[in-house]
Amino acid sequence: MAKLYFRYGAMGSSKTANAIMVQYNYQERGQNALMLKPMLDNRDGARTVGSRSGLSAPCRFVEELDSLDLTAYDCIIVDECQFLKKDQVQRLVDIVDNLNIPVICYGLRADFQGNLFEGSHWLMAWADTIEEIKTVCWCGRKATMNARVMGGKVVKAGEQIVLGGNESYVALCRKHWAKGELAPQEIRRIAAGKEAYLPLLLEADPSREMIAGYLDAGDLYVLLVNGQAAAVAVVTRREDANWELKNLAVVEPQRHKGYGSRLVRHLAKLYASRGGSMYVGTSPANVAFYEALGFRRAYVAEDFFTEHYPEPILENGAPLKDMIYLSMEL
Ligand SMILES: [Zn+2]
Repeated sequence: MAKLYFRYGAMGSSKTANAIMVQYNYQERGQNALMLKPMLDNRDGARTVGSRSGLSAPCRFVEELDSLDLTAYDCIIVDECQFLKKDQVQRLVDIVDNLNIPVICYGLRADFQGNLFEGSHWLMAWADTIEEIKTVCWCGRKATMNARVMGGKVVKAGEQIVLGGNESYVALCRKHWAKGELAPQEIRRIAAGKEAYLPLLLEADPSREMIAGYLDAGDLYVLLVNGQAAAVAVVTRREDANWELKNLAVVEPQRHKGYGSRLVRHLAKLYASRGGSMYVGTSPANVAFYEALGFRRAYVAEDFFTEHYPEPILENGAPLKDMIYLSMEL
């Protein structure tokens, strides 16, 4: 007998990554699993589901169910199922009971105000199996709530779904959600949506072309202060198998507070287990900053700035010419 599953978790609990892995497992066994998501007005509109881990997969919309021959599928997977309407959940129930096809739904339990979403309400009521996908709050407790963050503050009023808004969501434990307390400071690696940090990365490297050359393959880290990006850094693997800090930028109002140093120290510790040295290429004005962190002068890339950047980059009124490389053994 097929079953209706509701697997819920807070923001960032890898629900979509789980959904993609389940689909992959079916495919590996020579079976078909249909990936679906509800269509929301304007909301990306793309027929793909994407996870923060960077995994993505093509999908169809729940609204297209009537036009699909479901007998071709061994399983149906629904991502973002919190946005389902009652009649859509009923439709999934009918598929399970009448077509004997298992339906696995992934989504949030409650909205930013702590109220059940419509889809989650009916899945809670009707699913055969309800499972929690766990994640943690910055304090280490289990995160069960989803906070809406705007301008570094947790907001508690507003529409349940904001289309095209610039808010973001963070998973918090119930206590920190109730108090509206975001992590005082935390460092995160960003795998999906790296381009959102482009304005910040451009502050340390004014060339979009240069950034494009290392952002995709590089590891992007962001230091958040009360939920807002204060500093970003990119680490890449060099051809000589060592590591290179490619970009370190601190947002204007957060400069001279030690966030840049904190991020570099964290990365040096993080990459220590991978061996080799960490290199950084910089301009004369930043050499002292890196030396204070334990870097030592390694070599000079002559005319790097004049050859790689179409416009002269001024530092203390003079155009930059050579790039100074420093390194630190990890
Ligand atoms: Zn907490």
